[in-house]
Amino acid sequence: MPTFKCAVIKEAGGKFEFEEREIPTPARGEVLLKVKACGVCHSDKFTVFNAYPGCSLPRVPGHEVIGTVESVGEGVDWPPTGLLVGVGWHHDHCLFCEACRRGDFMMCPKSRVSGIHADGGYAEYMIAPWTGIAELPQDIDPVAAAPLLCAGITVFNSMRNQENVGPGDLVAVQGIGGLGHLGIQFAKKMGFQVAAVSSSGSKKELAEKLGADHYIDTSVEPASAQLQKLGGAKLVLATAPNAKSMEDLVNALGSNGRLLIVGADADKFSLSPFQVIPNRGHVCGWPSGTGTDCTDCCNFAKNQGIASMNEVFPLDKAQEAYDYMMSGKARFRVVLTP
Ligand SMILES: [Zn+2]
Ligand SMILES: [Zn+2]
Repeated sequence: MPTFKCAVIKEAGGKFEFEEREIPTPARGEVLLKVKACGVCHSDKFTVFNAYPGCSLPRVPGHEVIGTVESVGEGVDWPPTGLLVGVGWHHDHCLFCEACRRGDFMMCPKSRVSGIHADGGYAEYMIAPWTGIAELPQDIDPVAAAPLLCAGITVFNSMRNQENVGPGDLVAVQGIGGLGHLGIQFAKKMGFQVAAVSSSGSKKELAEKLGADHYIDTSVEPASAQLQKLGGAKLVLATAPNAKSMEDLVNALGSNGRLLIVGADADKFSLSPFQVIPNRGHVCGWPSGTGTDCTDCCNFAKNQGIASMNEVFPLDKAQEAYDYMMSGKARFRVVLTP
């Protein structure tokens, strides 16, 4: 039987181990993918430390997977073999619960996360249910596209679904890292007036290159004071949450403004009712998106020239790639190629 290589976490806090497994035959409703690229995401630490509800080990991480359809199981009318597709954070959904019957698949309580509840893309091959598959522009570069399936979709889908925010409105993107460097690009191309918020002056040139209209250096003056001088933010996209920064950013909101939290490693922060009552402020969050949301995100990114800045490692170096990403030194996303 032909085999494939994958990088496995076997115990919580352990190192990656490489395994040769038999290439599986997809079961009913499943698709076999030949992996072309897989992004390394900060959330992969939930697998490494077995720290996500329902996660179990051993597990192959990876939820930013680009691959081609090799074969499909019984009952799969789509996707066709040979198609370039993606699998993101949203692995699948049940189709039967109330959320699924309403078509709100992200809210399915039985939905699974790729690389956490099922094996992901740190591998040469991967099995995925057809329900979570994203069709991609067929000429998109797999390495360039991989981070769009988690970092990209999270900033794109969260911003496009907010009420009371439209083209021309002031949107602040807090943090210029893996999520933020994409957030600035998407926000600009969606027609917003974009303020990049950083804790130092060192990323000014980069932020402006990515499309920022304003640069907010919080070492000079709190973000709230600077954004209020610009009229108050309609939306603050919080990609790098730390308690102090979040507490101040609530004060940066204009009327009906929204603090939208997408960075999933937040400290607790405190909030006074008086920070949100007078201006009808909102504090909210958003979780990535479905396969079809990922399709929209990748099409938008390709049409608008939005690109993730990536550093590439071979699958054999999964441990180095993961450690490098966790060190915070990556500029800005790390991608594995088999
Ligand atoms: Zn992720
Ligand atoms: Zn469901």
